[in-house]
Amino acid sequence: MRTSWRLLLVPVALGCKMQNPITSDAAAVDRERMVREQIAGRGVRDPRVLAALSRVPRHELVPEDVRAQAYEDRPLPIGHGQTISQPYVVAYMTEQLRLSGDERVLEVGTGSGYQAAVLAELAREVFSIEIVEPLGERARADLARLGYRNVKIKIGDGYRGWPEHSPFDAIIVTAAPGHVPQPLIDQLALGGRLVLPVGGLDQELLLLSRDANGIHEERLIDVRFVPMRGEAERGE
Ligand code: SAH
Repeated sequence: MRTSWRLLLVPVALGCKMQNPITSDAAAVDRERMVREQIAGRGVRDPRVLAALSRVPRHELVPEDVRAQAYEDRPLPIGHGQTISQPYVVAYMTEQLRLSGDERVLEVGTGSGYQAAVLAELAREVFSIEIVEPLGERARADLARLGYRNVKIKIGDGYRGWPEHSPFDAIIVTAAPGHVPQPLIDQLALGGRLVLPVGGLDQELLLLSRDANGIHEERLIDVRFVPMRGEAERGE
């Protein structure tokens, strides 16, 4: 009996490997190393953010041809001239939002859906807008396949936000406009936090927060994101 079990198991295991360049076990090991060395190792402390990064299968959200590099310390191409940010930048920006679990979050620039999945692990509802239709469609299908039910994706220009679902407790922008879009500030709830890259070739990450006295702005780190398209370009 024992021998026949083994005979059955071996081809099944091989079959899985052939379909998936990274098996989920190997991916989990790579992911743990990524969190330890690239994320915690560089100062991201929020335990919920670290746990979310340990859970989201980044390799399932990037195109096949770059899957083997999914847990490396760099941005990756996701097609249509766009890129998914380096894991550290995703973690750093997410930590700035200080999510505790009950928030409604807006993301501008769905891309691969990876950042949206991280947010979905940490907040109640995530609304994400993507201007490139095939990217938005692919992210929507991938997130549904992975079981993320608290993410809604809209195809369109995120410059004007998503007023129907505002105000948002947190807003994250992952494409760089030349200035902070006023509609996003307007859609920030009291106590809300907006993190976004601003600039041309040289960009800085800004954190805007709203309290009873108004809007406060803080400069964080230098970053490089793809430019925000649509209305942001026309308004320069
Ligand atoms: N957060 C993404 C990173 C995507 S890169 C991820 O986790 O993979 C930035 C994305 O912003 C690209 O997909 C780009 O098409 C999109 N984008 C650029 N300008 C936009 C706009 N005005 N509205 C919505 N999405 C935009």
